[in-house]
Amino acid sequence: MTTFSELNLDPRVLKAVEDAGYTTPTPIQEGAIPPALQGQDVLGIAQTGTGKTASFTLPMITLLSKGRARARMPRSLVLAPTRELAAQVAENFDVYAKNTKLTKALLIGGVSFKEQDLLIDRGVDVLIATPGRLLDHFERGKLLLTGVQIMVVDEADRMLDMGFIPDIERIFQLTPFTRQTLFFSATMAPEIERITNTFLSAPARVEVARQASASETITQGLIYFRPSRKDRTAKEKREMLRALIESEGDKLTNAIIFCNRKTEVDVVAKSLKKHGLDAAPIHGDLEQSQRTRTLDGFRDGTLKFLIASDVAARGLDIPNVSHVFNFDAPSHAEDYVHRIGRTGRAGRLGTAYTIATPNDDKYLAAIESLLKTEIPRIEAPGGATPALAPEAEDEPKREARSRSRGGRKRKDDEAPKPDLAEAAPQDAPDQPKEPREDRPRRGRGNDRRDDNRVVGLGDHVPDFLLRDFKVPAND
Ligand code: AMP
Repeated sequence: MTTFSELNLDPRVLKAVEDAGYTTPTPIQEGAIPPALQGQDVLGIAQTGTGKTASFTLPMITLLSKGRARARMPRSLVLAPTRELAAQVAENFDVYAKNTKLTKALLIGGVSFKEQDLLIDRGVDVLIATPGRLLDHFERGKLLLTGVQIMVVDEADRMLDMGFIPDIERIFQLTPFTRQTLFFSATMAPEIERITNTFLSAPARVEVARQASASETITQGLIYFRPSRKDRTAKEKREMLRALIESEGDKLTNAIIFCNRKTEVDVVAKSLKKHGLDAAPIHGDLEQSQRTRTLDGFRDGTLKFLIASDVAARGLDIPNVSHVFNFDAPSHAEDYVHRIGRTGRAGRLGTAYTIATPNDDKYLAAIESLLKTEIPRIEAPGGATPALAPEAEDEPKREARSRSRGGRKRKDDEAPKPDLAEAAPQDAPDQPKEPREDRPRRGRGNDRRDDNRVVGLGDHVPDFLLRDFKVPAND
Protein backbone atom coordinates (compact mmCIF):
# COMPACT_ATOMS: atom_id res chain seq x y z
CA MET A 1 0.00 0.00 0.00
CA THR A 2 1.33 3.45 -0.91
CA THR A 3 1.87 5.93 1.91
CA PHE A 4 2.03 9.72 1.68
CA SER A 5 5.74 9.63 2.42
CA GLU A 6 6.33 7.81 -0.89
CA LEU A 7 4.64 10.53 -2.94
CA ASN A 8 7.51 13.04 -3.10
CA LEU A 9 5.57 15.79 -1.38
CA ASP A 10 7.39 18.70 0.21
CA PRO A 11 8.38 17.62 3.77
CA ARG A 12 6.42 20.56 5.20
CA VAL A 13 3.30 19.37 3.41
CA LEU A 14 3.92 15.82 4.56
CA LYS A 15 4.17 17.00 8.15
CA ALA A 16 0.84 18.85 7.82
CA VAL A 17 -0.79 15.73 6.35
CA GLU A 18 0.52 13.67 9.26
CA ASP A 19 -0.74 16.26 11.72
CA ALA A 20 -4.16 15.98 10.09
CA GLY A 21 -4.01 12.28 10.92
CA TYR A 22 -3.73 10.84 7.42
CA THR A 23 -1.10 8.26 6.47
CA THR A 24 -2.60 6.51 3.45
CA PRO A 25 -3.63 8.43 0.34
CA THR A 26 -7.10 7.81 -1.03
CA PRO A 27 -7.29 6.38 -4.60
CA ILE A 28 -7.77 9.81 -6.20
CA GLN A 29 -4.80 11.15 -4.23
CA GLU A 30 -2.65 8.18 -5.15
CA GLY A 31 -3.59 8.61 -8.80
CA ALA A 32 -3.49 12.40 -9.14
CA ILE A 33 -0.61 13.52 -6.93
CA PRO A 34 2.32 11.90 -8.84
CA PRO A 35 1.43 13.28 -12.31
CA ALA A 36 0.51 16.66 -10.79
CA LEU A 37 3.92 16.84 -9.10
CA GLN A 38 5.54 16.16 -12.45
CA GLY A 39 3.80 19.17 -13.95
CA GLN A 40 1.34 17.14 -15.98
CA ASP A 41 -2.29 18.13 -16.51
CA VAL A 42 -4.71 15.95 -14.55
CA LEU A 43 -8.28 15.03 -15.33
CA GLY A 44 -9.76 13.68 -12.11
CA ILE A 45 -13.12 12.01 -12.29
CA ALA A 46 -14.13 11.86 -8.68
CA GLN A 47 -16.82 13.00 -6.37
CA THR A 48 -16.75 14.87 -3.14
CA GLY A 49 -15.87 12.66 -0.23
CA THR A 50 -13.11 10.87 -2.11
CA GLY A 51 -10.38 13.17 -0.79
CA LYS A 52 -10.10 15.04 -4.08
CA THR A 53 -9.45 18.43 -2.47
CA ALA A 54 -6.18 17.21 -0.99
CA SER A 55 -5.37 15.52 -4.32
CA PHE A 56 -4.86 18.96 -5.84
CA THR A 57 -3.93 21.09 -2.81
CA LEU A 58 -1.01 18.89 -1.72
CA PRO A 59 0.85 18.94 -5.07
CA MET A 60 0.02 22.62 -5.56
CA ILE A 61 1.58 23.60 -2.25
CA THR A 62 4.61 21.47 -3.04
CA LEU A 63 5.04 23.00 -6.50
CA LEU A 64 4.46 26.57 -5.33
CA SER A 65 6.79 26.34 -2.37
CA LYS A 66 9.56 27.52 -4.67
CA GLY A 67 9.09 31.05 -5.96
CA ARG A 68 7.34 34.20 -4.80
CA ALA A 69 4.08 35.95 -5.56
CA ARG A 70 4.00 39.29 -7.37
CA ALA A 71 1.50 42.06 -6.81
CA ARG A 72 -1.85 41.44 -8.48
CA MET A 73 -0.53 38.34 -10.21
CA PRO A 74 -1.62 35.19 -8.41
CA ARG A 75 0.55 32.17 -9.14
CA SER A 76 -2.28 29.69 -9.00
CA LEU A 77 -6.01 29.71 -9.26
CA VAL A 78 -8.69 27.36 -7.91
CA LEU A 79 -12.23 27.74 -9.26
CA ALA A 80 -15.12 26.28 -7.32
CA PRO A 81 -18.83 26.55 -8.15
CA THR A 82 -20.17 27.81 -4.84
CA ARG A 83 -18.97 30.05 -2.07
CA GLU A 84 -19.10 27.25 0.46
CA LEU A 85 -16.99 24.96 -1.67
CA ALA A 86 -14.48 27.71 -2.33
CA ALA A 87 -14.32 28.38 1.42
CA GLN A 88 -13.84 24.66 2.04
CA VAL A 89 -10.92 24.55 -0.40
CA ALA A 90 -9.45 27.57 1.39
CA GLU A 91 -9.73 25.74 4.72
CA ASN A 92 -7.91 22.78 3.21
CA PHE A 93 -5.14 25.12 2.10
CA ASP A 94 -4.83 26.51 5.60
CA VAL A 95 -4.47 23.01 6.99
CA TYR A 96 -1.94 21.68 4.48
CA ALA A 97 0.08 24.88 3.91
CA LYS A 98 0.40 25.73 7.59
CA ASN A 99 4.15 25.00 7.62
CA THR A 100 4.88 27.11 4.55
CA LYS A 101 4.79 30.84 3.91
CA LEU A 102 2.36 30.61 1.02
CA THR A 103 -0.38 33.20 0.92
CA LYS A 104 -3.91 32.81 -0.32
CA ALA A 105 -6.97 34.92 -1.03
CA LEU A 106 -10.58 33.82 -1.25
CA LEU A 107 -12.67 35.70 -3.79
CA ILE A 108 -16.32 34.98 -3.20
CA GLY A 109 -19.50 36.99 -3.33
CA GLY A 110 -20.75 38.50 -0.12
CA VAL A 111 -17.30 39.73 0.94
CA SER A 112 -16.28 43.34 0.27
CA PHE A 113 -14.20 43.97 -2.84
CA LYS A 114 -11.98 46.33 -0.87
CA GLU A 115 -10.69 43.68 1.51
CA GLN A 116 -10.13 41.25 -1.33
CA ASP A 117 -8.37 43.90 -3.46
CA LEU A 118 -5.95 44.60 -0.64
CA LEU A 119 -4.91 40.97 -0.47
CA ILE A 120 -4.51 40.67 -4.23
CA ASP A 121 -2.53 43.91 -4.38
CA ARG A 122 -0.02 42.45 -1.97
CA GLY A 123 0.37 39.38 -4.17
CA VAL A 124 -0.95 35.91 -3.42
CA ASP A 125 0.30 32.45 -4.24
CA VAL A 126 -3.11 30.85 -4.31
CA LEU A 127 -6.32 32.51 -5.39
CA ILE A 128 -9.49 30.55 -4.66
CA ALA A 129 -12.60 31.91 -6.32
CA THR A 130 -16.04 31.40 -7.70
CA PRO A 131 -16.03 32.18 -11.45
CA GLY A 132 -18.38 35.19 -11.36
CA ARG A 133 -16.53 36.96 -8.60
CA LEU A 134 -13.17 36.31 -10.22
CA LEU A 135 -14.32 37.89 -13.48
CA ASP A 136 -15.76 40.87 -11.57
CA HIS A 137 -12.32 41.51 -10.10
CA PHE A 138 -10.66 41.02 -13.44
CA GLU A 139 -13.00 43.44 -15.16
CA ARG A 140 -12.33 46.06 -12.52
CA GLY A 141 -8.70 45.86 -13.57
CA LYS A 142 -7.56 44.68 -10.17
CA LEU A 143 -6.21 41.35 -11.19
CA LEU A 144 -3.90 39.88 -13.80
CA LEU A 145 -4.16 36.22 -14.65
CA THR A 146 -1.03 36.07 -16.79
CA GLY A 147 1.06 34.78 -13.87
CA VAL A 148 -1.11 31.73 -13.23
CA GLN A 149 1.07 28.63 -13.38
CA ILE A 150 -1.46 26.16 -12.00
CA MET A 151 -5.18 26.32 -12.53
CA VAL A 152 -7.68 24.02 -10.81
CA VAL A 153 -11.29 23.60 -11.84
CA ASP A 154 -13.22 21.81 -9.10
CA GLU A 155 -16.69 20.26 -9.49
CA ALA A 156 -16.85 21.04 -13.20
CA ASP A 157 -20.13 19.20 -13.66
CA ARG A 158 -21.75 21.41 -11.07
CA MET A 159 -20.32 24.43 -12.92
CA LEU A 160 -22.06 23.13 -16.01
CA ASP A 161 -25.35 22.77 -14.13
CA MET A 162 -25.05 26.32 -12.91
CA GLY A 163 -24.28 27.79 -16.32
CA PHE A 164 -20.68 28.71 -15.48
CA ILE A 165 -19.02 27.00 -18.44
CA PRO A 166 -18.72 30.17 -20.60
CA ASP A 167 -17.05 31.90 -17.62
CA ILE A 168 -14.67 28.98 -17.19
CA GLU A 169 -13.75 29.09 -20.87
CA ARG A 170 -13.10 32.80 -20.61
CA ILE A 171 -10.93 32.36 -17.53
CA PHE A 172 -8.96 29.59 -19.25
CA GLN A 173 -8.28 32.02 -22.11
CA LEU A 174 -7.06 34.71 -19.71
CA THR A 175 -4.43 32.42 -18.20
CA PRO A 176 -1.18 31.51 -19.94
CA PHE A 177 -1.22 28.70 -22.43
CA THR A 178 1.68 27.13 -20.56
CA ARG A 179 -0.21 26.73 -17.29
CA GLN A 180 -0.73 23.35 -15.66
CA THR A 181 -4.39 22.39 -15.33
CA LEU A 182 -5.92 20.12 -12.72
CA PHE A 183 -9.53 19.51 -13.63
CA PHE A 184 -12.09 17.65 -11.49
CA SER A 185 -15.58 16.51 -12.29
CA ALA A 186 -17.84 13.82 -10.89
CA THR A 187 -19.18 12.97 -14.34
CA MET A 188 -18.02 13.51 -17.91
CA ALA A 189 -20.94 15.11 -19.72
CA PRO A 190 -20.23 15.84 -23.43
CA GLU A 191 -19.82 19.56 -22.68
CA ILE A 192 -17.25 18.77 -19.99
CA GLU A 193 -15.46 16.43 -22.39
CA ARG A 194 -15.31 19.26 -24.94
CA ILE A 195 -13.79 21.68 -22.41
CA THR A 196 -11.17 19.18 -21.32
CA ASN A 197 -10.29 18.39 -24.94
CA THR A 198 -9.87 22.11 -25.62
CA PHE A 199 -8.01 23.27 -22.55
CA LEU A 200 -6.11 20.30 -21.13
CA SER A 201 -2.95 19.03 -22.67
CA ALA A 202 -2.40 15.26 -22.62
CA PRO A 203 -3.85 14.94 -19.14
CA ALA A 204 -3.31 12.00 -16.82
CA ARG A 205 -6.82 10.65 -16.45
CA VAL A 206 -7.59 9.41 -12.96
CA GLU A 207 -10.98 7.93 -12.36
CA VAL A 208 -12.20 6.66 -9.04
CA ALA A 209 -15.18 4.37 -8.69
CA ARG A 210 -18.42 6.17 -9.10
CA GLN A 211 -20.52 6.31 -6.05
CA ALA A 212 -23.59 4.71 -7.57
CA SER A 213 -24.42 2.89 -4.43
CA ALA A 214 -25.26 4.21 -1.05
CA SER A 215 -23.12 3.41 1.93
CA GLU A 216 -24.21 0.29 3.78
CA THR A 217 -24.22 2.16 7.05
CA ILE A 218 -27.22 4.19 5.92
CA THR A 219 -30.72 2.92 6.66
CA GLN A 220 -32.96 4.13 3.88
CA GLY A 221 -36.72 4.46 3.80
CA LEU A 222 -39.37 5.80 1.47
CA ILE A 223 -42.68 7.17 2.67
CA TYR A 224 -44.99 7.19 -0.29
CA PHE A 225 -48.43 8.73 -0.08
CA ARG A 226 -51.13 10.21 -2.21
CA PRO A 227 -52.06 13.73 -1.08
CA SER A 228 -55.72 14.38 -0.38
CA ARG A 229 -55.67 17.14 -2.98
CA LYS A 230 -53.00 18.39 -5.31
CA ASP A 231 -52.93 21.85 -3.78
CA ARG A 232 -52.39 20.29 -0.36
CA THR A 233 -49.32 18.31 -1.39
CA ALA A 234 -46.72 20.61 0.16
CA LYS A 235 -48.67 21.07 3.37
CA GLU A 236 -49.23 17.35 3.80
CA LYS A 237 -45.59 16.67 3.06
CA ARG A 238 -44.65 19.08 5.83
CA GLU A 239 -47.00 17.24 8.20
CA MET A 240 -45.42 13.97 7.17
CA LEU A 241 -41.94 15.40 7.77
CA ARG A 242 -42.84 16.51 11.27
CA ALA A 243 -44.38 13.13 12.05
CA LEU A 244 -41.22 11.42 10.83
CA ILE A 245 -38.99 13.68 12.89
CA GLU A 246 -41.08 13.05 15.96
CA SER A 247 -41.13 9.30 15.45
CA GLU A 248 -37.36 9.15 15.31
CA GLY A 249 -37.13 10.52 18.86
CA ASP A 250 -33.69 10.53 20.42
CA LYS A 251 -32.19 8.63 17.52
CA LEU A 252 -32.28 11.93 15.66
CA THR A 253 -29.51 14.20 16.86
CA ASN A 254 -29.43 16.47 13.81
CA ALA A 255 -30.64 16.38 10.25
CA ILE A 256 -30.30 17.88 6.82
CA ILE A 257 -33.61 18.26 5.03
CA PHE A 258 -33.32 18.61 1.27
CA CYS A 259 -35.81 20.42 -0.94
CA ASN A 260 -35.66 20.84 -4.72
CA ARG A 261 -36.39 24.57 -4.74
CA LYS A 262 -35.11 27.52 -2.80
CA THR A 263 -38.64 28.74 -2.10
CA GLU A 264 -39.50 25.36 -0.62
CA VAL A 265 -36.34 25.48 1.52
CA ASP A 266 -37.59 28.73 3.04
CA VAL A 267 -41.13 27.49 3.55
CA VAL A 268 -40.06 24.24 5.20
CA ALA A 269 -37.59 26.03 7.50
CA LYS A 270 -40.22 28.56 8.49
CA SER A 271 -42.83 25.90 9.08
CA LEU A 272 -40.55 23.74 11.24
CA LYS A 273 -39.57 26.77 13.28
CA LYS A 274 -43.19 27.65 13.75
CA HIS A 275 -43.72 24.19 15.12
CA GLY A 276 -41.00 24.70 17.69
CA LEU A 277 -38.12 22.95 15.92
CA ASP A 278 -34.65 24.39 15.73
CA ALA A 279 -34.36 24.90 11.96
CA ALA A 280 -32.63 27.27 9.54
CA PRO A 281 -32.45 27.43 5.75
CA ILE A 282 -29.42 27.52 3.50
CA HIS A 283 -29.54 28.43 -0.18
CA GLY A 284 -27.93 30.77 -2.63
CA ASP A 285 -30.26 33.75 -2.14
CA LEU A 286 -29.30 34.22 1.47
CA GLU A 287 -26.64 36.66 2.64
CA GLN A 288 -23.23 35.07 2.86
CA SER A 289 -22.89 36.02 6.53
CA GLN A 290 -26.16 34.25 7.30
CA ARG A 291 -25.12 31.16 5.33
CA THR A 292 -21.83 30.99 7.17
CA ARG A 293 -23.53 31.45 10.54
CA THR A 294 -26.08 28.75 9.77
CA LEU A 295 -23.45 26.26 8.63
CA ASP A 296 -21.21 26.98 11.61
CA GLY A 297 -24.18 26.47 13.92
CA PHE A 298 -25.01 23.17 12.28
CA ARG A 299 -21.41 22.01 12.43
CA ASP A 300 -20.96 22.88 16.10
CA GLY A 301 -24.29 21.35 17.11
CA THR A 302 -26.14 24.52 18.08
CA LEU A 303 -28.49 24.16 15.12
CA LYS A 304 -30.39 20.88 14.80
CA PHE A 305 -32.14 21.06 11.42
CA LEU A 306 -30.50 22.40 8.29
CA ILE A 307 -32.93 22.85 5.40
CA ALA A 308 -30.94 22.92 2.18
CA SER A 309 -30.99 22.90 -1.57
CA ASP A 310 -28.66 20.61 -3.48
CA VAL A 311 -26.38 23.36 -4.67
CA ALA A 312 -25.90 24.92 -1.24
CA ALA A 313 -25.20 21.57 0.39
CA ARG A 314 -23.12 20.04 -2.36
CA GLY A 315 -19.75 18.89 -1.19
CA LEU A 316 -20.09 20.23 2.30
CA ASP A 317 -18.08 18.18 4.69
CA ILE A 318 -20.26 17.98 7.78
CA PRO A 319 -19.47 15.04 10.00
CA ASN A 320 -21.98 13.47 12.38
CA VAL A 321 -25.30 13.96 10.69
CA SER A 322 -27.72 11.39 12.09
CA HIS A 323 -30.54 11.91 9.57
CA VAL A 324 -31.17 13.09 6.04
CA PHE A 325 -34.71 13.78 4.86
CA ASN A 326 -35.60 14.28 1.25
CA PHE A 327 -38.58 16.54 1.52
CA ASP A 328 -38.67 16.25 -2.26
CA ALA A 329 -37.36 13.30 -4.22
CA PRO A 330 -34.43 14.75 -6.18
CA SER A 331 -35.07 15.25 -9.88
CA HIS A 332 -31.54 14.07 -10.70
CA ALA A 333 -30.93 10.54 -9.53
CA GLU A 334 -27.29 11.18 -8.62
CA ASP A 335 -28.34 13.87 -6.19
CA TYR A 336 -30.05 11.15 -4.16
CA VAL A 337 -26.70 9.48 -3.54
CA HIS A 338 -25.06 12.81 -2.72
CA ARG A 339 -27.83 13.81 -0.39
CA ILE A 340 -28.05 10.65 1.65
CA GLY A 341 -24.24 10.46 1.69
CA ARG A 342 -24.31 13.43 4.10
CA THR A 343 -25.15 10.88 6.79
CA GLY A 344 -23.52 7.55 7.61
CA ARG A 345 -20.07 9.05 6.97
CA ALA A 346 -16.86 7.40 8.04
CA GLY A 347 -18.54 4.17 9.08
CA ARG A 348 -21.09 5.82 11.35
CA LEU A 349 -24.73 4.80 11.22
CA GLY A 350 -27.18 7.10 9.49
CA THR A 351 -30.80 7.25 8.44
CA ALA A 352 -32.16 8.70 5.22
CA TYR A 353 -35.89 9.06 4.57
CA THR A 354 -37.51 10.22 1.38
CA ILE A 355 -41.01 11.61 1.20
CA ALA A 356 -42.68 11.02 -2.15
CA THR A 357 -46.05 11.31 -3.83
CA PRO A 358 -47.21 9.99 -7.21
CA ASN A 359 -45.73 13.13 -8.78
CA ASP A 360 -42.30 11.71 -8.01
CA ASP A 361 -42.78 8.33 -9.69
CA LYS A 362 -40.50 9.23 -12.57
CA TYR A 363 -37.73 10.45 -10.28
CA LEU A 364 -38.06 7.42 -8.01
CA ALA A 365 -37.77 5.09 -10.97
CA ALA A 366 -34.54 6.86 -12.06
CA ILE A 367 -33.11 6.77 -8.53
CA GLU A 368 -33.86 3.11 -8.07
CA SER A 369 -32.46 2.27 -11.45
CA LEU A 370 -29.21 4.06 -10.50
CA LEU A 371 -29.09 2.34 -7.11
CA LYS A 372 -30.02 -0.96 -8.77
CA THR A 373 -32.23 -1.65 -5.80
CA GLU A 374 -35.49 -0.53 -4.31
CA ILE A 375 -35.61 1.98 -1.51
CA PRO A 376 -37.49 0.09 1.22
CA ARG A 377 -41.06 1.37 1.62
CA ILE A 378 -41.90 2.26 5.18
CA GLU A 379 -45.21 2.94 6.84
CA ALA A 380 -46.13 6.51 7.62
CA PRO A 381 -45.11 7.01 11.25
CA GLY A 382 -47.79 6.39 13.87
CA GLY A 383 -50.45 6.22 11.17
CA ALA A 384 -49.74 9.86 10.36
CA THR A 385 -52.20 9.93 7.55
CA PRO A 386 -55.52 11.11 8.90
CA ALA A 387 -55.30 14.21 6.74
CA LEU A 388 -54.33 12.18 3.74
CA ALA A 389 -56.76 10.84 1.25
CA PRO A 390 -57.48 7.17 0.93
CA GLU A 391 -56.41 5.57 -2.29
CA ALA A 392 -58.69 6.29 -5.17
CA GLU A 393 -60.91 3.27 -5.02
CA ASP A 394 -61.28 2.82 -8.70
CA GLU A 395 -57.54 2.47 -9.16
CA PRO A 396 -56.36 -0.27 -6.90
CA LYS A 397 -54.08 -1.89 -9.44
CA ARG A 398 -52.07 1.14 -10.37
CA GLU A 399 -51.64 2.21 -6.79
CA ALA A 400 -50.55 -1.26 -5.77
CA ARG A 401 -48.00 -1.24 -8.56
CA SER A 402 -46.66 2.15 -7.51
CA ARG A 403 -46.32 0.99 -3.98
CA SER A 404 -44.58 -2.21 -4.78
CA ARG A 405 -41.89 -0.82 -7.00
CA GLY A 406 -41.72 2.80 -5.92
CA GLY A 407 -43.49 4.13 -8.91
CA ARG A 408 -44.22 2.76 -12.27
CA LYS A 409 -42.31 4.13 -15.19
CA ARG A 410 -44.41 7.04 -16.31
CA LYS A 411 -44.70 7.92 -19.95
CA ASP A 412 -43.22 11.28 -20.86
CA ASP A 413 -46.53 12.87 -21.60
CA GLU A 414 -47.64 12.00 -18.11
CA ALA A 415 -44.81 13.86 -16.44
CA PRO A 416 -45.88 16.19 -13.67
CA LYS A 417 -46.44 19.84 -14.34
CA PRO A 418 -44.04 22.21 -12.60
CA ASP A 419 -45.66 24.17 -9.88
CA LEU A 420 -45.00 27.58 -11.32
CA ALA A 421 -46.36 29.31 -8.28
CA GLU A 422 -43.42 27.98 -6.31
CA ALA A 423 -40.77 28.03 -8.98
CA ALA A 424 -37.94 30.47 -8.46
CA PRO A 425 -34.42 30.85 -9.78
CA GLN A 426 -32.34 28.10 -8.35
CA ASP A 427 -29.28 28.48 -6.20
CA ALA A 428 -26.46 30.07 -7.95
CA PRO A 429 -24.57 31.64 -5.17
CA ASP A 430 -22.60 33.86 -7.43
CA GLN A 431 -24.05 34.39 -10.84
CA PRO A 432 -27.01 32.27 -11.66
CA LYS A 433 -27.33 31.68 -15.37
CA GLU A 434 -29.83 28.96 -15.88
CA PRO A 435 -31.42 27.43 -12.87
CA ARG A 436 -31.28 23.67 -13.03
CA GLU A 437 -33.77 22.52 -10.48
CA ASP A 438 -36.33 25.01 -11.74
CA ARG A 439 -35.62 24.77 -15.41
CA PRO A 440 -38.82 23.76 -17.12
CA ARG A 441 -38.40 20.14 -18.03
CA ARG A 442 -39.23 18.77 -21.38
CA GLY A 443 -42.35 16.71 -21.43
CA ARG A 444 -44.03 18.69 -18.71
CA GLY A 445 -47.14 20.27 -19.95
CA ASN A 446 -50.81 20.50 -19.71
CA ASP A 447 -51.40 17.09 -18.34
CA ARG A 448 -54.45 16.67 -16.20
CA ARG A 449 -53.19 13.95 -13.97
CA ASP A 450 -55.43 11.51 -12.27
CA ASP A 451 -54.18 12.55 -8.87
CA ASN A 452 -56.29 15.66 -9.39
CA ARG A 453 -59.19 13.46 -8.48
CA VAL A 454 -61.39 15.07 -5.89
CA VAL A 455 -62.64 12.63 -3.31
CA GLY A 456 -66.37 12.16 -3.59
CA LEU A 457 -66.73 13.44 -7.14
CA GLY A 458 -65.80 10.27 -8.95
CA ASP A 459 -64.58 10.83 -12.48
CA HIS A 460 -66.59 13.95 -13.12
CA VAL A 461 -64.61 16.72 -11.57
CA PRO A 462 -65.60 20.18 -12.84
CA ASP A 463 -62.65 21.79 -14.53
CA PHE A 464 -62.55 24.86 -12.29
CA LEU A 465 -61.77 22.63 -9.33
CA LEU A 466 -58.63 21.45 -11.03
CA ARG A 467 -57.17 24.85 -11.72
CA ASP A 468 -53.84 25.59 -10.06
CA PHE A 469 -53.63 28.31 -7.54
CA LYS A 470 -50.89 29.50 -5.28
CA VAL A 471 -50.55 27.71 -1.99
CA PRO A 472 -49.91 29.97 1.01
CA ALA A 473 -46.22 29.87 1.85
CA ASN A 474 -46.67 28.92 5.50
CA ASP A 475 -48.94 26.75 7.41
P1 AMP B 1 -13.01 15.78 -0.16
O1 AMP B 1 -13.41 14.72 -1.14
O2 AMP B 1 -11.81 16.52 -0.58
O3 AMP B 1 -14.17 16.68 0.15
O4 AMP B 1 -12.60 15.06 1.22
C1 AMP B 1 -13.51 14.37 2.01
C2 AMP B 1 -12.98 14.13 3.42
O5 AMP B 1 -11.90 13.19 3.41
C3 AMP B 1 -12.44 15.36 4.13
O6 AMP B 1 -12.99 15.42 5.42
C4 AMP B 1 -10.96 15.14 4.19
O7 AMP B 1 -10.38 15.77 5.31
C5 AMP B 1 -10.85 13.64 4.26
N1 AMP B 1 -9.57 13.10 3.74
C6 AMP B 1 -8.79 13.66 2.79
N2 AMP B 1 -7.73 12.88 2.54
C7 AMP B 1 -7.84 11.79 3.33
C8 AMP B 1 -7.05 10.61 3.53
N3 AMP B 1 -5.95 10.39 2.84
N4 AMP B 1 -7.48 9.72 4.41
C9 AMP B 1 -8.63 9.91 5.09
N5 AMP B 1 -9.42 11.00 4.95
C10 AMP B 1 -9.03 11.93 4.08
